[in-house]
Amino acid sequence: MRFPVLHFFSSFARHVTAGVLDLVYPRSCLLCGKLLEFDKPLYFCRNCLRNLPWIHARCRECGRYLSAAGPVQSACKTCSESRRFFDSGVSALLFDHPAKKLLFHMKYQGDFGLAAPLAGLMTRAYVKNAVSHPDWITFVPLHPFRFKERGFNQSELLANEVGKRLRIRTFPALDRIRFDAVQASLDLRERAKNIRNAFQIKKKFNRKSDHVLLVDDVMTTGNTLNECAKILKENGVSYITVLTLMSVED
Ligand SMILES: [Zn+2]
Ligand SMILES: [Zn+2]
Repeated sequence: MRFPVLHFFSSFARHVTAGVLDLVYPRSCLLCGKLLEFDKPLYFCRNCLRNLPWIHARCRECGRYLSAAGPVQSACKTCSESRRFFDSGVSALLFDHPAKKLLFHMKYQGDFGLAAPLAGLMTRAYVKNAVSHPDWITFVPLHPFRFKERGFNQSELLANEVGKRLRIRTFPALDRIRFDAVQASLDLRERAKNIRNAFQIKKKFNRKSDHVLLVDDVMTTGNTLNECAKILKENGVSYITVLTLMSVED
């Protein structure tokens, strides 16, 4: 049996004792360990940064990698076949090593100091591909049970760090109201069904905004982001860009 609170504090303690200084003032590349120039807020050496699986040819709707490497205007299979409630998307990297390892380290081992370097990669991709400056940022929420178990929401941490870099405020806008089987263990049709009606708008939500940036760590089908976008649209948001750290190929 796991004790969520203890898990949280042990993660926190591990984070503080093992490497917080390195993450705040990093001196070596997080991927290869090569020493970095002091005084620069860098987390990766130039070589590792260049060799990350950056997404260049992307779906114009969700931002995922398009293997056909067609024009930027084309959409991926999932976006072509389903109604999307978000309007544009940017995904920084393909769901692949070595960046995947860093995300798993943050998500499952509680090393949330990694949110800053990973959000740095997201911001870099967003700035390069952005359609406009968002009014505010929000994120895909975890169900309270999952939040208690993990102790934090990785998407919220990433959203906060992206917000700092873009100088935009982050607000929690959604609640996850259904706690079901883990999405990863379901097939595509089950996933789509499972995620329907999983979210609702926060009770005190009253923001009417033109452009909102919706953040998540990984996009697979995009159904989770789509459901969140749908709720935001129903509650007065007119334009939504989804921003993800990684996405799988369609
Ligand atoms: Zn390196
Ligand atoms: Zn797409």
